[in-house]
Amino acid sequence: MTLTILFAAGPDMWAEYERPLRDALAKVAPETRLVTEADPAEVDYVIYAPKSPLQDFTPYTRLKAVLNLWAGVETIVGNDTLKAPLVRMVDDEGLTRGMVEWVAGHVLRHHLGMDAHIVNPDHVWDHRPPPLAPERRVTILGLGALGSACAEALARFDFDLSGWSRSPKDLAGIACHAGPEGLMPALDGAEIVVMLLPNTPETENVLNAETISKLAPGAVVINPGRGPLIDDDALLAALDDGRLGHATLDVFRTEPLPAEHPFWAHPKVTVTPHIASETRVSTASQAIADNIARCEAGAPLVGRVDRDAGY
Ligand code: NDP
Repeated sequence: MTLTILFAAGPDMWAEYERPLRDALAKVAPETRLVTEADPAEVDYVIYAPKSPLQDFTPYTRLKAVLNLWAGVETIVGNDTLKAPLVRMVDDEGLTRGMVEWVAGHVLRHHLGMDAHIVNPDHVWDHRPPPLAPERRVTILGLGALGSACAEALARFDFDLSGWSRSPKDLAGIACHAGPEGLMPALDGAEIVVMLLPNTPETENVLNAETISKLAPGAVVINPGRGPLIDDDALLAALDDGRLGHATLDVFRTEPLPAEHPFWAHPKVTVTPHIASETRVSTASQAIADNIARCEAGAPLVGRVDRDAGY
């Protein structure tokens, strides 16, 4: 029977995705109808993105899964009209590789103290070599698909690594902590903190005045996770009084970051415009097609969201 796949991620994304998706689907599920409009009762799969106009899934009575093109699902996870499985982007090699490169770059920037040499208007010969990686305490909050890939990459430099997740983990070269009681030990003395948690009620403001106080003096915060993970006022206060040395932020409570937001002008904040990693069209199209093929073969979907946990 022909499968109907509704691309509901909006017209801009359709222009990019139509050809790669058709090609990827042709290889794994030839009997498909990939469309941007359909009778809801005939739709088998929905391909979704955060700005999708589709909000009411009630008439989608035949739906087998909603496949989100992004890794974060906070805009759809609480949608009670959706009864079918929700799947986030997790199997996209481009997304993971991009995040590893971005995180490694920003960790190394701060580890090596590059800023002092890149911007050195007085031409100061400051001969203080940076410490080596084993002497640098780095903590990664979130050891999921992206956090563990970043941890693995940083472990190759031999950073003194700790990590934190909801469920216990055992990862080579990383001191793994889990659950609410594991947070403070994970942060204790960290000089660089990388935040790769999802945005859920449990993770909101995980970086706050109390948790910041556990970090090493002058620590650096790198947040490619989600804006609400940070209490912005506490972050700014800690940057202003020197408890924190720098914050590199890719994600914000409001995006694009409003022009008047204090982060833009703050000398100790680097703003990047939600570019840490991006779902890459060709690899993501393949990941979507593979997941549909898996589901049709009766195998478990990769990246299925736990709706109760919120990610
Ligand atoms: P995963 O769901 O694979 O991993 C999430 C991690 O967070 C898991 O280790 C999970 O623990 C942990 N976690 C969740 N809730 C808690 C909690 N309450 N306490 C402790 N740990 C918790 O997600 P990904 O790695 O794929 O992505 C992480 C986030 O990165 C996304 O949610 C998204 O917000 C962001 N992102 C940002 C991008 C950007 O360009 N800036 C691009 C892509 C993603 P456990 O392992 O036990 O489940």
